[in-house]
Formats: sequence, structure tokens, C-alpha cells
Amino acid sequence: MIQLYIPLNFLGVIYREIKQSLTDLDRMFTLMDKEREVADAPDARPLRLEAAPPEVRFEHVDFAYDPARPILHDVSFAIPAGKTVAVVGPSGSGKSTLARLLFRFYDVQGGHVRIAGQDIRDVTQASVRAAVGIVPQDTVLFNDTVEYNIAYGRPGASRQEVEAAARAARIHDFIVHTPQGYETRVGERGLKLSGGEKQRVAIARTLLKNPPILIFDEATSALDSANERAIQNELRSAAQGKTSLVIAHRLSTVVDAHEILVMDSGRIIERGTHEALLAQGGRYAQMWNLQRNQPESEPAAQPA
Ligand code: ATP
Repeated sequence: MIQLYIPLNFLGVIYREIKQSLTDLDRMFTLMDKEREVADAPDARPLRLEAAPPEVRFEHVDFAYDPARPILHDVSFAIPAGKTVAVVGPSGSGKSTLARLLFRFYDVQGGHVRIAGQDIRDVTQASVRAAVGIVPQDTVLFNDTVEYNIAYGRPGASRQEVEAAARAARIHDFIVHTPQGYETRVGERGLKLSGGEKQRVAIARTLLKNPPILIFDEATSALDSANERAIQNELRSAAQGKTSLVIAHRLSTVVDAHEILVMDSGRIIERGTHEALLAQGGRYAQMWNLQRNQPESEPAAQPA
């Protein structure tokens, strides 16, 4: 029986390996499909960034994933150099779409997205993606070591640089207490990390990349309040001196933003500082009051 068990078990392992490799390949092709959505113009040149950090500008942007269903309508805003603009609004209002357009996953159908005055359709995608760092809502980790996952932000980074980024993202202590430290394998086949831990790995990865523009897509899942505060602090230090777009699900994240945009059905319906929006007594004030009556760890109530 044991003679049969060992080869069968071995076959099972091989089967799982192949299945996982196919999943990885599948993911890679999904990403490559996204790459194919946009192409470099024949005369595209690298983005010129004389004064870092650069200003980011959306000018009368219209966008649809599918022509039959417009998503963004005449969206205009500017993030001055080194400032943070926050976006809030109900689910599906188009917040993450703004992030995808700034990373140039897609091209706009109307208007312009500009970085340092240059329309991002006129410059190379590689230079845009080098200038922009995204901390996504839901980070997918590679089936590799935690070191590899952080160093992915800047291939070739030394262990010291990886550790410095991990310390800044407050994940270093967690890592050194895992069975093999920085060599511990994470991802679907390795150690499972919580949403907050994964987001810290993503912050460390982005800190290591050190791009002049930062997009932070706050996780929708509820974190406990200590973790939430820690992540907000990390975010604040990561955004220091960078031009940042923050997609927020908790209003406590946006209080200090240079400007807050309130989106609804692909339009900016209110904008201003936290104080100005509260004084206005509109949708933002309504969201703020609703959230204040909720337990601290729950995401902001976003009335549809
Ligand atoms: P949430 O707060 O839930 O993350 P959101 O405000 O970020 O939502 P978006 O992800 O920008 O919303 O989505 C805006 C609209 O675009 C939604 O109606 C969504 O269904 C649609 N959408 C998003 N991604 C795609 C896609 N790849 N193809 C087609 N439609 C999409």
C-alpha cells in the first residue's frame, strides 16, 4: 500500500505545482492583456520630470470601459506638487478608475491626464509606470519569499534596503518573527498574511520603488482600529514629499488632504477641504456624521 501511496502523493504534489504554475501564467496573461489596452505613440518619449515631485492634472476627463456605458464625466482636478488629494464616494462611483487612468492602464476618451504638464498618452508607458507607485486595495503576493515580494519594487535592491523599507512600513518586526524571516515564502502556497500585513508589504514595496507619485487605494475590509491607525501613519510618512492620490473608504484618512473630491456616478459632486465640506453641510457632511455614529473600525458608510 505504502508503495502505491508515495508515487500517488508525489503525483498529487506535481499536480498542485502545475495547477499553481498555470494560475501564475493566467495572472501574467491577465496583466499582459491590461498592458495591451494602451500602446506607446510612435514618437513617445520618456516623461520629463525636472522638478520632483510633479503636479498631476485631470482635465475634463471622460472615460468608459465599454463605449455603451460611460463611467467618468468631465472630471477635472489637480494635485499640486507634493500634495495629497483624496477621493471618496459610494462603491462604483469611479474612484479606482481614476487610479487606473493615472497609471495608464487605459486611455481616456475625452480630456487629458497630465503629469508635470505632459499628456501621459504622449510619453512612454514605462516612464509613467516608473514615476507612479500604487498601493492597491488588495495586494496579490507572488509565491516567493517575503524579501522577493518587497524587492519587486526595485529589482536588485540589497537586503539592507529591503529591510529599511520594511521597517518604514512597520512590517519588519512581523517578518523577523516568521519561521524563516525574510526567506519565508508567502502567497497562496506560503504563509498566509492578513489584509493589513499584505498592505504593509505593498507599502514597503512602494517605499523601495520611491516613485514621485503615489496612489493609495485604501482597503475596504475592516481593520481593527490599532491596525488602521498604524496603516494611516505609514501612509502619511510614505506620502511625505510625494504627489499623492488617496482613494479612501474611511473618512478619518482624508481629514488632512489638500482637497477632497466627493464622487457620485462618475462625477465630482463636491470638493474642498474637510472643514469647508463640513461647513457646506452636503453629501460629505452627511457621510461624516454617519461614520461618526459607527464603530471606529468600520469603513465609512457611503450612502448611494
Ligand atoms: P469601490 O469603492 O467599490 O472600489 P469605485 O468607486 O472605485 O468602487 P470603480 O472601480 O472605479 O469604482 O468602478 C466604476 C464603475 O466602472 C463601476 O460601475 C464598475 O462596475 C465599472 N468597472 C470597473 N472596472 C471595470 C472593467 N474592467 N470593465 C468594465 N467595467 C468596469
